[in-house]
Amino acid sequence: MAAPTPEPQDLDPHVMDLDFDPDALRAKYRAERDRRIRPDGSGQYRHLAGEFGAYDEDPYADPDFTREPLRDRVEALVVGGGFGGLLAGARLRQAGVQEIRIVEKGGDFGGTWYWNRYPGIHCDIESYVYLPLLEELGYVPAWKYSPGEEIRQHARAVARRFGLYEQACFQTQVTELRWDEGEDGGESEWVVGTDRGDEIRARYVVVSSGTLSQAKLPGIPGIETFRGHTFHTSRWDYDYTGGDASGRLTGLADKRVALIGTGATAIQVVPHLGQDARQLYVFQRTPSSVDVRGNRPTDPEWAAALQPGWQRQRMENFLKVVTGSREEADLVNDAWTSTARLQEKLIPTNAYADVPAERRELAYEIADFQKMNELRARVEGIVEDPETAEKLKPWYRYMCKRPTFSDHYLQTFNRSNVTLVDTADTHGVERITENAVVVGDTAYEVDCIVFATGFDVGRSGVLSGKLPVYGRGGAGLLETWMTQGPRTLHGFTTRGFPNLFLLGSMQNAASVNYVHILDEQATHVAEIVAQARKRQVRCVEPTAEAQAAWVATIRQKAADLHKFQAECTPGYYNNEGRPRERSEAYGDGSVAFHELLRRWRADGGMREVLVEGSGT
Ligand code: NDP
Repeated sequence: MAAPTPEPQDLDPHVMDLDFDPDALRAKYRAERDRRIRPDGSGQYRHLAGEFGAYDEDPYADPDFTREPLRDRVEALVVGGGFGGLLAGARLRQAGVQEIRIVEKGGDFGGTWYWNRYPGIHCDIESYVYLPLLEELGYVPAWKYSPGEEIRQHARAVARRFGLYEQACFQTQVTELRWDEGEDGGESEWVVGTDRGDEIRARYVVVSSGTLSQAKLPGIPGIETFRGHTFHTSRWDYDYTGGDASGRLTGLADKRVALIGTGATAIQVVPHLGQDARQLYVFQRTPSSVDVRGNRPTDPEWAAALQPGWQRQRMENFLKVVTGSREEADLVNDAWTSTARLQEKLIPTNAYADVPAERRELAYEIADFQKMNELRARVEGIVEDPETAEKLKPWYRYMCKRPTFSDHYLQTFNRSNVTLVDTADTHGVERITENAVVVGDTAYEVDCIVFATGFDVGRSGVLSGKLPVYGRGGAGLLETWMTQGPRTLHGFTTRGFPNLFLLGSMQNAASVNYVHILDEQATHVAEIVAQARKRQVRCVEPTAEAQAAWVATIRQKAADLHKFQAECTPGYYNNEGRPRERSEAYGDGSVAFHELLRRWRADGGMREVLVEGSGT
């Protein structure tokens, strides 16, 4: 394990004896960024709809599944059956809610882990802090970093444990949420429409439709003309490749395969494709940073000695360490926890606020250069061909792109059947023909193209416009936010849309361990619902004052990440080189935010959402 980056207060760049030239690195980063910037920004991508709709089909569900439309009523309806929806279901169940229906597009629970089953899939956040509700289920994961199938099975186990299968609707997409005031003497509640013609009434609705749930394709000219086989990594076609998530892709033994993209997904896929395909071409535009993985089986003695409360303690410790708190112990002790300082550039916190800003910025930058130098040296140490090694070196600051971890990815480029094709100068793959992928003067003939080209990030249902929400007086949520800007209390509730709870990272705080964040959110929402039930208050809705105050807090505390992100190489973290001017994240970070929520619940905050006089 690499040494942690030094504390900013211990680092004075003016007196440090640096073994590199920061100005030269700055210039190199700028030049590499400029090579990749495209005028079309996010417009370069294609959604999986229309002629590309087949890429979005569910390979795991029964295509002939039908059922009668539902016309019934539940107390709580949850949109999305990933960990956010499952945690909402579990926490609402613990709060005493009986009728809970989760509506999910896939054929089962799991969300990300339902859709993504590509070979090599693992979670790169430690399993003991990532998999939720381990103690409640009496389970300890088998590995420090879990394979995807273990996580998917855990999601299913959570659903079984909290009785969430009974009323679940799979292979169903919510198409509309409409608030019915109950003016004709009926209940005031949500009317939920779906693509299966359902009309479900629900007192409470929780939306947890995910952030990485809409796969995207590159808009490469000729993409539709390819005659061979193609698919996106989030819909892996094992009928074609053979094998399963653990590899053994026997169907590729006589195939020439193109993999487009080298993000966190590709890093996990490449070793398997390299091992099993006759020939693999990896088309890279920007190399990922690839750090040590160091996965290992769980030590049974360690697992047996765990004391009650261990998971909460470990999750809290991880969150604190990665957000820069000076903790005595680093329980997880991996590449995430040793790079906390660098992560602040993506996920703001109030750590190191005591260090003068200029000194802090410089210290961060130097620590960043050192970390990236270490990762570039790692490439040189592993990849035998110097030209290939040079292409695999990442030239940008650590959090410009999602850091990745692998002990097999770089090694794969030493295989004689694997070729790295760099596409930076052509801003990506130039063209696809009926039998080849074209870059520069070369047409690489292939039988199959696998797109590891990522997701439309942050386009959850509500913000994408695919899930219209109509609140009091028929007002549209998206339309309201488009004109006024997003307005919420803590990111969860919004005025004019009673009993609607949004999970996600709008006007609240995030972390690299996003499932932990979702659990805090689900717990908070469930406590509000529990209080509404106890006090027999019918409508949960923030007061105008509370909402305005929270929006003001978000603005006042917003970290200025714009300069950093504008200088980053393009990618989804910075909206392809055009970062948004304003951050909607809570600037003091997730540790402070969770503390704020706890205090709010304990100190009468409920007054701000449980409006007097709206009782039954
Ligand atoms: P990414 O968006 O990170 O990567 C997409 C890749 O496609 C990039 O390398 C991109 O290049 C490349 N690309 C796009 N268009 C073209 C083109 N026209 N020509 C050539 N290359 C192109 O998607 P991933 O699926 O890899 O990862 C998405 C996210 O999912 C991660 O960031 C992470 O948050 C999550 N994830 C988490 C894992 C975990 O273990 N927790 C594992 C895997 C994914 P460029 O960079 O130049 O744009």
